[in-house]
Amino acid sequence: SRPPPSTTTRRSSPMSRAGSATPWWASMSQTFPHRTASPSVAGSPRVGILALQGDVREHGRVLRSLGAEVVSIRRPDELLAVDGLVLPGGESTVIDKLARGFGVAEPLSRAIAAGLPVYGTCAGLILLADRLEDGIEGQRTFGGLDVTVRRNAFGGQVESFEASVAVPTFGGPPVDAAFIRAPLVVSTGPGVEVLAELDDGGIVAVRQGNAIGTAFHPEV
Ligand code: GLN
Repeated sequence: SRPPPSTTTRRSSPMSRAGSATPWWASMSQTFPHRTASPSVAGSPRVGILALQGDVREHGRVLRSLGAEVVSIRRPDELLAVDGLVLPGGESTVIDKLARGFGVAEPLSRAIAAGLPVYGTCAGLILLADRLEDGIEGQRTFGGLDVTVRRNAFGGQVESFEASVAVPTFGGPPVDAAFIRAPLVVSTGPGVEVLAELDDGGIVAVRQGNAIGTAFHPEV
């Protein structure tokens, strides 16, 4: 069961959105080391995984099995060479601190705002949220989803659970979803599409433009 709603809302400060007509890479000053014009060229997509903390390897395994070329992202310049980005599950407070420490947080926010396709699982969803509840003091997010996300909404590690979650938009069978100290989307802005809900109506997957976030792990 969920704890009562918190009374304090900590607002993160994501970068403001860039115009949607501009491709995300146009705002980057450097040229692509691997891609000449658009990164979306024929062949297998090159997908970056933010590899500062969390279940980077599990995401890599699934992405490779789907035919993607996978690269680890730790530095801003590595962002320039990918077609899309995964923000893994893990600990959002740690990923946030490391991303700022490595100087990759701001370039990442800009790339997302400019349209880089991005998928965040669990801690990754938290990092994509424009607003956060129950963040730690000073915790920031990259932003990209006009949602409010509540951290640890289901309680601690012992409250972790698995569920079969239907994601109708994508078709196919329900996803075997692991909720591990999972967050919950507690409010959504007008441009946000709800992709999946629990039986009680709790929102656990959302999409807005180039960004998708799930409260659960489909990769473990
Ligand atoms: N509770 C974690 C956080 O706040 C997320 C847990 C997860 O990614 N499985 O970042």
